[in-house]
Amino acid sequence: MVKVLDEHERTMAFAEVALGQIRSLRQTAIPRNYEIWYVYATGYNAPLNKIINETLARNGKLTEADLDQIYDTYLSHIKTTDRIDKVGARVIGEIDDVMRLLGEALGMSAVYDASLSGASQKLEHAGTREQIKGIVETLARSTREMRDTNKALEDRLTLSKGEISNLQHSLEAIRAESLTDPLTGLGNRKYFDRMIEVAVQAAVAAGEPLSLLLFDIDHFKSFNDSYGHLTGDQVLRLVGLSLKQTIKGQDITARYGGEEFAVVLPDTAMRQALTVADHIRRAVMAKELKKKSTGEILGRVTISVGVSMLKPGDDTDSLIERADACLYAAKRNGRNRVVCEVDPEYVAESRSQVA
Ligand code: GH3
Ligand code: MG
Ligand code: MG
Repeated sequence: MVKVLDEHERTMAFAEVALGQIRSLRQTAIPRNYEIWYVYATGYNAPLNKIINETLARNGKLTEADLDQIYDTYLSHIKTTDRIDKVGARVIGEIDDVMRLLGEALGMSAVYDASLSGASQKLEHAGTREQIKGIVETLARSTREMRDTNKALEDRLTLSKGEISNLQHSLEAIRAESLTDPLTGLGNRKYFDRMIEVAVQAAVAAGEPLSLLLFDIDHFKSFNDSYGHLTGDQVLRLVGLSLKQTIKGQDITARYGGEEFAVVLPDTAMRQALTVADHIRRAVMAKELKKKSTGEILGRVTISVGVSMLKPGDDTDSLIERADACLYAAKRNGRNRVVCEVDPEYVAESRSQVA
């Protein structure tokens, strides 16, 4: 009961902040705006808060177009490709506008240039004060026009700079999202594929060691079957969290597939990699799982880990294949363990595969 009340109060506090913002900025209280400000109040979506704070600091308000863009980029659940299309179209539109404006300014500049040369020719033949006065007045007029054009260009470019910087943030957010696994917040498979390639090349170039861990939750299918897919998803989140808490610095973590995860450890040789692998295994096992809705204790999950280390002649594929084979050996030899390429379990299996 206490818990329910806490949740009620916590969410009401967010709701009040959201409505307060809508009120003070005199926005329409439509669901889209409420959602934007509610998420802002929770602070869970850092890029959304950042873009809102920056836009408010710059312009003192959020226009309909700003709200549209913020919603599309940071909240709406439409497909990434559609969002890239939208942002792309706006970038092109912005560039078109600026190009047209630059074209006009260049035209004005040519006219001004002609008027200067015309004036200097006329001045050579001007005899009377009146004629000189006329020429100077014409010059002053075209100079004023030129100054106005420059001012308009400057104002428009300042606006464009803000708009392009917003679009840049949108693209960065979309890009980051396209490389993130939404369930665990870890890198996704695409991120892993890219990063391991870069890390392997860097290790080869620098002559440094590199290790790879692949791990997979044990008997996860039966866990899902017993407690349901949603609870399974919570467990995947928890495993992701254990991974984030154990792994730091330059190491690359990713959700490799359904219930498989990968860690690339640059500048790390086998012994150290095994220590890291065992830390992760223990961290996962240490967590007692509890069903949020009922408080029911679900026990623990364990993981099996395969570890490989880059060796001469390796490429990413062979490195992954060996880690995968070690993971398979860990499963076959009882699960909840770490196996590497020099372990007897792995050696025996790879020999029997050759035989
Ligand atoms: P093993 O110890 O040999 O790995 O057994 P296992 O049951 O974990 O392995 P198996 O590959 O047979 O099954 C993997 C299961 O993982 C299948 C599916 O139920 C579950 N799984 C995969 N992706 C997800 C996901 O995104 N969410 C949930 N809840 N379950 C998933
Ligand atoms: Mg699996
Ligand atoms: Mg499994």
